[in-house]
Amino acid sequence: MRTAIIGAGLAGAAAALALARAGAKATLFDQFAFGHDRGSSHGATRLFRTAYFEHPDYVPILQRALEGWRTLERAAGETLFHRTGVLEAGPPDGFLIPGLHKAIADHDLPVERLSRAALKRDHGALVLPDSFDAIFEKEAGFILADKALAAMIRLARAHGASLRPATRVTNWEPAIDGVALWTDAGREVFDSIVIAAGSWANALIDVEAAKIQIAEMTLHWRRPATDAFTLDKGFAPFGIETQAREFYYGFPAIDSDGVKLGEHTRRKTINDHGERSETPAPGEEALIDDFLQRFIPALAHRAGKRQSCLYEMSADGHFLIDRHPASERVVFAAGLSGHGFKFAPVLGEAIAAMTLEKRTPAEWEFLSLRRFGASA
Ligand SMILES: Cc1cc2nc3c(=O)[nH]c(=O)nc-3n(C[C@H](O)[C@H](O)[C@H](O)COP(=O)(O)OP(=O)(O)OC[C@H]3O[C@@H](n4cnc5c(N)ncnc54)[C@H](O)[C@@H]3O)c2cc1C
Repeated sequence: MRTAIIGAGLAGAAAALALARAGAKATLFDQFAFGHDRGSSHGATRLFRTAYFEHPDYVPILQRALEGWRTLERAAGETLFHRTGVLEAGPPDGFLIPGLHKAIADHDLPVERLSRAALKRDHGALVLPDSFDAIFEKEAGFILADKALAAMIRLARAHGASLRPATRVTNWEPAIDGVALWTDAGREVFDSIVIAAGSWANALIDVEAAKIQIAEMTLHWRRPATDAFTLDKGFAPFGIETQAREFYYGFPAIDSDGVKLGEHTRRKTINDHGERSETPAPGEEALIDDFLQRFIPALAHRAGKRQSCLYEMSADGHFLIDRHPASERVVFAAGLSGHGFKFAPVLGEAIAAMTLEKRTPAEWEFLSLRRFGASA
């Protein structure tokens, strides 16, 4: 089976690797150089959690993803996942804690509800209101994102995938016994295609229910005065919902840049990539320091570098994984909505099954377009 994968971000690279491993002739296209920083998959780190407040149906997929990361690490011969545990805290009546409780109860997940004494002992840098609940998931941690993406592309190539960087796919259409696509070099026909175009997906998918909205997000670094926030000293990644229903997250310092922080709910929506400014929304830097002043005072006002990254938001914040209504030979993975990285190994396998066996694995069905009353 000759399969073209459009997009060499996280979703496309994972798909190319799974397809090449399964024996398909995979060709991976990207409009830019592989590993570029203009989309959603670049950067040093991404959180991995299985107690998933967003929706409990992601949990079984994530439990397999954990295995997938270990398998990928062995194949790549390098560390890609740090099992540090992740601390999550928030008001008991917010979205985080009730969502966590539901995922934990539905799947009987082994997490620890932290007492005040345990919080003080193990997470002393954090100042949490007494009314907050705090949950620690030991199996969680973080992924080295740039390294993981490079490893997937390298391994896909080792399994026979062809790489076509700096090659934009301008259009596609169903052809007799295949799918035709166009690049600047002309028309090519494949048996099937995978669209994994991230925040550029609307131009290639063009289905109302699968429309995504682009948001430019900024990551902020803070340089602590001591080494208390390093990975070596055991500072754990965290996610904290505030009383104002914002969701801040952060990572231990893995290099001299310090602690990386972001906020997930305040999104600077842009209409197209030309509007990207590479700067945070006005006042955002101050809001980060305000959060830090209240929750991690030792990091407040210690500004470091910044990085911009794109979210591609689906209408409900959940992934869009389906076949295209115009052709069952076209599979897409879109709308990863700012939380897709952790799924990479199993997302790749799901796309490969949808492409090669023409079936959507049952656990991914809840992410199809059917939930919007549309179907492929
Ligand atoms: C700030 C931030 C923090 C995040 N934190 C987490 C986290 O902690 N945990 C987590 O699990 N996830 C997280 N995510 C989400 C995760 O990183 C994304 O869901 C994921 O990387 C999306 O990958 P993608 O392949 O869909 O998109 P992209 O990485 O954007 O890849 C799409 C690719 O398609 C290419 N392309 C587009 N159109 C064409 C075309 N016509 N022809 C050729 N190539 C084309 C683009 O150049 C691009 O390389 C975060 C994302 C951001 C931005």
